[in-house]
Amino acid sequence: MSGYNIATEREIWEGLASDVYFQRSLSASGSDVSDHVKAEVTVSGPLDTWVNFSGLDEVIHLLKGRGLDVYAIPEGTILLPRDSTGTPVPFLRVEGPYSSFGNLETAILGFICQASGISTYSAKIRKELGDTPFFSFGIRRMHPAISPMIDRSAYIGGADGVSGILGGRITGTDPVGTMPHALALLMGDEKAWDLTVKASPPGRKTVLIDTFKDEKFAAIEAASRIPDLDFIRVDTPSSRRGNFAALIREIRWELDLRGYGHVRIMASGGLRLENLRDLKEAGVDAFGIGTSISSAKPFDFAMDIVEVNGKPITKRGKFSGAKQVFRCDRCYSILVEPVGKDVKTCQCGGNMAPLMEQYLKSGEAVGKYPSPSQIREHTLQELEKLEKIPVA
Ligand SMILES: [Zn+2]
Repeated sequence: MSGYNIATEREIWEGLASDVYFQRSLSASGSDVSDHVKAEVTVSGPLDTWVNFSGLDEVIHLLKGRGLDVYAIPEGTILLPRDSTGTPVPFLRVEGPYSSFGNLETAILGFICQASGISTYSAKIRKELGDTPFFSFGIRRMHPAISPMIDRSAYIGGADGVSGILGGRITGTDPVGTMPHALALLMGDEKAWDLTVKASPPGRKTVLIDTFKDEKFAAIEAASRIPDLDFIRVDTPSSRRGNFAALIREIRWELDLRGYGHVRIMASGGLRLENLRDLKEAGVDAFGIGTSISSAKPFDFAMDIVEVNGKPITKRGKFSGAKQVFRCDRCYSILVEPVGKDVKTCQCGGNMAPLMEQYLKSGEAVGKYPSPSQIREHTLQELEKLEKIPVA
């Protein structure tokens, strides 16, 4: 094959980016698949962690105009995969003739499994860092065709910005970047710093200090050379790293001692969720986080028929019948109930509100889809509730 190894939008829409068995069973079964079904998407694993649900925008885009009814949990909502009684939580429900969407299952799951994996990892970073900013720097580790999806998911999960040009476009944010090591290699530290600072917007004047020299001495040099420097970025290679937090503490000390308290420290390079607390405590003011976000483990969402022609039916291990998800506004416990059963009050006395919303009615969009910044805001509000979720 020449060219890029990607599915075109048309191929995805036609169901070609799918496992072949859907297509084979659909063509083999003839008219039977005109049966009206309800299918639900639940998490098969991991079950011991919360999900920041995302990727729904692409599912809706794929299912639009096919005459289907689609209900889902809004993107940015944080839920455990099981309710307080152990019933699987449906995140999405599709209703209509099986022949209208059966061959799209692979693509539907792919959209939400990967996006939710990334947005959940990003939300965990947000929770760990509190108000300390972090940026999605990981698109270079993944196929470029999906870089907008990666940046969008990271942003929805709580990242303060993204590095990709397309990611910036899709999230409605100014893409964030500092300077590449290449610039210092081509013209030396001093010239590269001057050029970078000249091209940077106010408040974002950031220079890399680890290309040639020891970080401490380069940091002092940069701070003394550039009076209005905002950030130094430390991207120390792993072979030189030793104790990264100790290095940050030392740089902070030496900058403060010389009156450069206004120069903040940004850290990047192979950072993972479990490294962040130490580095923040050591004095890192902002983080660039790459591979650990873009390669976040996908959730295993699975799609199953739960009703055929109005009769509840499903495979072994699943719960039949269409369901609604309720959440208490006081203790945030969740309860999955059959559609039609109204639950108003929680055991704790709080109000139970339904979470699943209708997105498509006979293939047409219901309401206006929220923007990435609105969804990110929803995630941040959900994170505040997390303290009360039993297994966080
Ligand atoms: Zn309650």
